[in-house]
Amino acid sequence: MTATAAPPTHKIEVENPATGQIVASVDVVGPERIPELVERARAAQPGWEVLGFEARGQLLRRCQKWVIDNSERIIETIVSETGKAWEDAQMAEVSYAASAFGFWAKNAEKYLADERVKTASPFVKGRKLIVRHVPVGVVGVIGPWNYPLTNSFGDCIPAMAAGNAVILKPSEVTPLTALLMGECVRECGIPDGVYQVAPGFGETGGALVDAVDFLMFTGSTATGKKVMERAAKTLTPLALELGGKDPMLVCADADLERAANAAVHYSMQNAGQTCISTERVYVEAPVYDQFVSLVTQKVGELRQGAPRGPGSVDLGAMIHPPQSDIVEAHVRDAVEKGARVAAGGHRSDSNGHFYEPTLLLDVDHSMAAMREETFGPTLPIMKVADADEGVRLSNDSPYGLQASIWTKDAAKGERLARRIEAGAVTVNDAQINYVALELPMGGWKSSGLGSRHGADGIRKYTKKQAIVITRLAPKRDLHMLPYSAKRTKLIARMLKLVYGRGKRD
Ligand code: NDP
Repeated sequence: MTATAAPPTHKIEVENPATGQIVASVDVVGPERIPELVERARAAQPGWEVLGFEARGQLLRRCQKWVIDNSERIIETIVSETGKAWEDAQMAEVSYAASAFGFWAKNAEKYLADERVKTASPFVKGRKLIVRHVPVGVVGVIGPWNYPLTNSFGDCIPAMAAGNAVILKPSEVTPLTALLMGECVRECGIPDGVYQVAPGFGETGGALVDAVDFLMFTGSTATGKKVMERAAKTLTPLALELGGKDPMLVCADADLERAANAAVHYSMQNAGQTCISTERVYVEAPVYDQFVSLVTQKVGELRQGAPRGPGSVDLGAMIHPPQSDIVEAHVRDAVEKGARVAAGGHRSDSNGHFYEPTLLLDVDHSMAAMREETFGPTLPIMKVADADEGVRLSNDSPYGLQASIWTKDAAKGERLARRIEAGAVTVNDAQINYVALELPMGGWKSSGLGSRHGADGIRKYTKKQAIVITRLAPKRDLHMLPYSAKRTKLIARMLKLVYGRGKRD
């Protein structure tokens, strides 16, 4: 927070879920305080916009360096409020933020510069036509707890690069990283009021929806729908990055060793609490047994516990302890319907909150573990007759965020990828598209609306304006009042000439 006028209503006690210890106590910004923050943002925004891309880019590059110079401190903060493994905070968060500051500093102008367009309309020819991208003003970002830097603060970077002021409401579970980034932007010279943090609960998020000019939300599909409903009342434009149930399809001709390593990594990384984590695997029958044997061995070697620095554990804690209830319910439901737990399957809440890396076999689509977002360290593997069945089952889902195909035949992989209903599909890789910031990242179906990254990832934070400039023109255009039979005939001839020469089928 850059300033505090009214007293806080209450505090958020931030718990390290890997140890159960309270690591900080943070003042809540209640919904009644949101208008005050928005007013401050509106006062700061015009000066920030007028600085231009070059000057804003320089400040964002300073932030990039700050992130690298302070990377240990950022990682420690993330680990303290999430209980995730050190490497999960380093690779998927610090590395992302550093890259994003540089990317948007470099590319904001490219994506948002005025565009000159040509028209085919005979009535407009000869005019100067411009498409302009104008910052919306004040952007609200509502973030989840799984990636307090990447998925919360990360969306503020392009919003600021476009010339907006931003108010971030982090998850009540993980507000510390967002506050630390306040220190970053302040020290790097970004003007007061351009970035503000509103630690709070759902109702603070709701008030933000009402008051901002654009809202970026990341979280569950259920809450995303509530946010969209609320945004309808004020016609607040928004983008939603919601849940996923990402499938992995392993063909018989895949490099099984690489596919097994990837299945384990991309399902268990961040203890499975990633919107684009591998949530279900389909394996062609001829290689099913071999694949399962490789994965079983690798899952058995994973180390879980409270992170104590680099390399100390592979899996950390359940960041939001109630999430263990969902994971537990999915595993129980699967077992009741005939699944076999080949590894893990237990939770522990005695000393921190953990769920074991869990392998589920003999699964099918009657089970929640194959249809609903589990968002935990589980890996259900299902045998399929062939790739066609794998594609059909992959698409048998309300979600469509991300998917992966595994085959040594790249052309076949691409053909299969094009049949998958998801916003991103990788062949012989998973998740890696997320760090290519040039690519759009957004869900199909119930996985979201709009996208982050790429041109749309920054243009969404702007309003488009079309400008037409007419320099040389007659006193009266052909189509202007008053109408006359002579000019109407002339227009008819013109229409025939321009549009009437196509062949009929
Ligand atoms: P939510 O979707 O409920 O929360 C996301 C953010 O929205 C949080 O900052 C939350 O605040 C805020 N929020 C909650 N209610 C409202 C509201 N009515 N209006 C505006 N903002 C609101 O996620 P959960 O933490 O409850 O997780 C539930 C499920 O969501 C998980 O089981 C998982 O399946 C999925 N999920 C998906 C993520 C993704 O990356 N796509 C990330 C996290 C979870 P507060 O924290 O104070 O409730």
